Amino acid sequence: MAIVLIWITSIIVSCIIADKNGRSVGAWFFLSLLFGFLATIVVLAMGPANPVTIAVASPHQPFVFAENRVPCPRCGESIVATAKICRFCSAAQAVNEWPTS
Ligand SMILES: [Zn+2]
Repeated sequence: MAIVLIWITSIIVSCIIADKNGRSVGAWFFLSLLFGFLATIVVLAMGPANPVTIAVASPHQPFVFAENRVPCPRCGESIVATAKICRFCSAAQAVNEWPTS
């Protein structure tokens, strides 16, 4: 009977960890149902889901630039539209080729 309690506990713990880490609760519920405590260890070891998604949602938006500034085609930094050389990466700029609007 104890094994059933451990099994149910591991399912609950897996669901809580999955929810906390932004993973599918339903998927980890079934994985725990099948693999018991093994699934709990796996979801715990995996950590938070998709740190890349968090980076994409960060305030750094490469396409928002102040007026008369354009993104450097090489390094992406905001530089003056009339600049001939990028001040960040020293790449030569094709002047007037970039729309300023
Ligand atoms: Zn550059």
